[in-house]
Amino acid sequence: MVDTKRMDNNNLLETVEAKIVCGQCGNQAVKTIAWLKTNGIYECPVCGDETDLRTQEWTDRIQGYIDACTSFDE
Ligand SMILES: [Zn+2]
Repeated sequence: MVDTKRMDNNNLLETVEAKIVCGQCGNQAVKTIAWLKTNGIYECPVCGDETDLRTQEWTDRIQGYIDACTSFDE
């Protein structure tokens, strides 16, 4: 099925949220996929530890969130 609403993909990135757990203090935060892609690094507001969101692990995880949300179309 051809997707005629390609622009919805951007909306998706703004809507879908991923949970980030700080590796140092365990503080949890929720950010949109768009935020993750734009910023690349998450700085924990509690301890200041930085999480690199551009690692392969995070790239896979972000893609997983996107896949999970686009699979509704099938
Ligand atoms: Zn922290």
